[in-house]
Amino acid sequence: MTQQGLVLINTGNGKGKTTAALGTAVRAWGNGQKVLILQFIKGSWKYGELEAVRALGSLNGNIEIRSMGDGFVFHGRKEDPEAFARKKQLAQEAWAAAVREVMSDAWDLIVLDEVNYAIHFGMLTAEEVAGLIRSRPARLNLILTGRYAPEALIDLADTVTEMKPVKHAFEKGIRARKGIEF
Ligand code: ATP
Ligand code: MG
Repeated sequence: MTQQGLVLINTGNGKGKTTAALGTAVRAWGNGQKVLILQFIKGSWKYGELEAVRALGSLNGNIEIRSMGDGFVFHGRKEDPEAFARKKQLAQEAWAAAVREVMSDAWDLIVLDEVNYAIHFGMLTAEEVAGLIRSRPARLNLILTGRYAPEALIDLADTVTEMKPVKHAFEKGIRARKGIEF
């Protein structure tokens, strides 16, 4: 009998949401599972982890990472309406790809990195994401990352972790470090 897949959310303002998802992705891959990582914001997956995932994928094709953000970051509705509309369009195309991949039933684990940001900034709705979670293939494990996870998704998830910032080197003026932040 197929095991019911789980939904995990890594949220909160502390560091570690994306890298914890990547750690789980590597763990799943090491168990022979098929893993897809879709990033909603380009740049959150920096060079180091891209290289690492590609190296693993080249061994057996069981792990893949795709950047769907096209270089934009979200600033919300405060930015100029034209830029907002363009980013929203891109985010919705990214979302369409996520729906296709989820419903393909080709994967054991899919990571939607920074999808919570896309919802927070009004690029897609929590209801759309909740709908996909409910209609996904039963065996599929899903990880959603990003600050500001909406209550509707927290309610649906099985495991929710809130990263709590105690301190961050950035507050001392230390810039992003190779091997730590990218
Ligand atoms: P990571 O990718 O390291 O797991 P994350 O996914 O939890 O971090 P994001 O909110 O996606 O964090 O932010 C990405 C970057 O911002 C990370 O490189 C991280 O070090 C940095 N960052 C996270 N939290 C803080 C913070 N409280 N203050 C300053 N920088 C932060
Ligand atoms: Mg992140």
